[in-house]
Parts: sequence; structure tokens; C-alpha cells
Amino acid sequence: MKAKPKVLIVYTGGTIGMIKDPVTGALSNVDFNLISHHVPEINRLNIEIDSVSFPEPVDSSEIHPGHWIEIAKTIDEQYEHYDGFVVLHGSDTMAFTAAALSFIMEGLQKPVILTGSQLPIGVIRTDGKENLITALEIAVATNDEGKPLVTEVAVYFDYKLLRGNRCTKDSAEHFEAFRSPNYPELASAGVHLQYFEDEMYRPSESKFSYLTEVNSRVGLVKLYPGIPFQLYGHIFNRETTDAVVLETFGAGNAPKNKEMYAMLDAFIKDGGIVLNITQCSSGSVEQGLYHTSSEFNKMGVLSGGDMTTEAAITKLMVYVDPKNPSESQQKIMENLRGERSDS
Ligand code: ASP
Repeated sequence: MKAKPKVLIVYTGGTIGMIKDPVTGALSNVDFNLISHHVPEINRLNIEIDSVSFPEPVDSSEIHPGHWIEIAKTIDEQYEHYDGFVVLHGSDTMAFTAAALSFIMEGLQKPVILTGSQLPIGVIRTDGKENLITALEIAVATNDEGKPLVTEVAVYFDYKLLRGNRCTKDSAEHFEAFRSPNYPELASAGVHLQYFEDEMYRPSESKFSYLTEVNSRVGLVKLYPGIPFQLYGHIFNRETTDAVVLETFGAGNAPKNKEMYAMLDAFIKDGGIVLNITQCSSGSVEQGLYHTSSEFNKMGVLSGGDMTTEAAITKLMVYVDPKNPSESQQKIMENLRGERSDS
């Protein structure tokens, strides 16, 4: 008899595994055994399931780069033993973790599916059951040749599989909590699980590896009319910062403000990287399209194209090496894991 495919669940925390504290009423995380107790259906899948858990599962607001590396390390250690991996994670920062993992891990030839839920698994109307069950099915899905259908980091939530570095959480209310504004779905779950193979990312590397360090000296500045740039001197400062994501208006526009220009110019001349992304919820930066962004080209501000904020920040954290600014810039502009469309 053919051996059952194997999945490792990496449980990090989040609402999916939370219960109400009887005294305070606040939600806190429980261990994975309680989750599986609430979803006995997973034992009926034709999948051998093992699980590992963070020593202390956390609300995803507590997730930091050390956790991303811990998840990548676990996958690395178990890579040969499993057909796929399901990471249970709070939805609040899931898009950051998914994007970060997509950059931290190289040569991924197996599915890494992040999922979670808006309602705890013990609640009757929970969305966690369906999310978990289908994520497990996706993690073992193969094509006619028996090869994994998904070879990337993806987020499964509310009947949709989205590329990890293309999605963003856009609802704190609806079960459909995630959106992939600039890239199509990878799969959709209805009566049938339909995979869109042409949209899937296929790595050129075949050997799995992961990075053990990221650079946290990355800032984020969102423009707004009347923004007092003098408050931002500490961010555009090479003593503290190696790179800044600048969330601009529309197709990458900003006010023609002398103070801002001087600040950005000095920062870039001093080896800092500024990455321009749009604060619009979809679409792309086209630097130079309007005169309000052509100065950026002259200064050496990089265009982030149609990357999400989550992808832009984590990409800088992974690839900005202050000792190698030109190599870093080249990596940022490249489409490395399907995170941007325009290069
Ligand atoms: N606060 C929770 C978290 O992100 C929300 C969720 O899981 O949906 O951990």
C-alpha cells in the first residue's frame, strides 16, 4: 500500500488556538493538542500529521524576525521528512511572516502554507476548521507526475490560496481577511480544489537553504498632506537606519518639499536605500510619470513597483547589506520570489 503523505504543522499561536480567560475574558493561546481535539476531522484525512509548537504560542503581534528564522529552521530540519508544511499563525501579521519566509528560504520545492482564523477553533462558527483542513490538503497536493503543486510560501484563508509575499490582511471582521491586490489567486476551494498552476512560482534553485539573519535597521514612512518632515530626521539617519520604505501617493508621488528632498538625498548619498511603494491598496509605482516623482529618479530612490508594504519591508530586511549597497539595490529591484511584476 502507498504510504500516506506527511505534513508537519508548525503551531506559532494566533486566534485559531485561543481560548477565553474565564476571569478577564481576554483571549490567550493554548497548546496544539487542544486544537486537534476540536478538529477530529483531520484524523480522517489520508495524511500523516505531526506537529511542533512554539514553546509559548503567541498572538501574532508579538512575532518578530527571530520567530521567522525559527520557523525556517524547523522547516530546514524537517525538510526531507515531510511532503509539506502548514504554519498556524495569527492573521494580524501573517502577511509579514509569509513574505519574510518567502525571502528567507531558498530553493523551496515543497508547499509551506500559512493559515489561521478569525474566530477561535472552539467557537461553533469558527472559520479555523475549514482553513486548517484545506491547508492540509493543499500541503500534500501533487500533479500527475507526483510533484508538489505548490512550491512556494502561500497563505490559505477563506477558500483562497494566495501568494505569501503578495497578500495583505484587509479585514479585521470578515472571514475573507486577506487580499492579493496585484496578483491572482493560486488556488480556490469550492466543490473542487482548483489550482492555477500557471500562476505558481517555481524556484530555479533546487537545494533548500535559509538565511539565519535579517537586518532590522529598516524604517517605514507613510506620507500625508502636511507631513512635518523635520520629525523624521531620526529615521533618515545612517547611524540608525540602513533602508526606508516610503509609502507615497498614487503612482509614487510626493510633495515637492525641499526639506524632504534634502533629507532623502543625504541619506542615499550616505549609502542608505529608499524604496518607493504606493499607499494605494492596488496598482504600482511609476516613478517619473508625474513631475512630483521625477526628482526621486534623480536622487536614486528605488521604485518598489507593485510590492505590498509587507513584501517591501521584509525584502529590505532580508537583502539590505550595508557593506554591499549596490548588490543590495540590485536584489531589491529584481523579482526574486514573484513578489513584484515589473522587473
Ligand atoms: N490577534 C490575533 C493574532 O494575530 C488575530 C488572529 O489570529 O486572527 O494573533
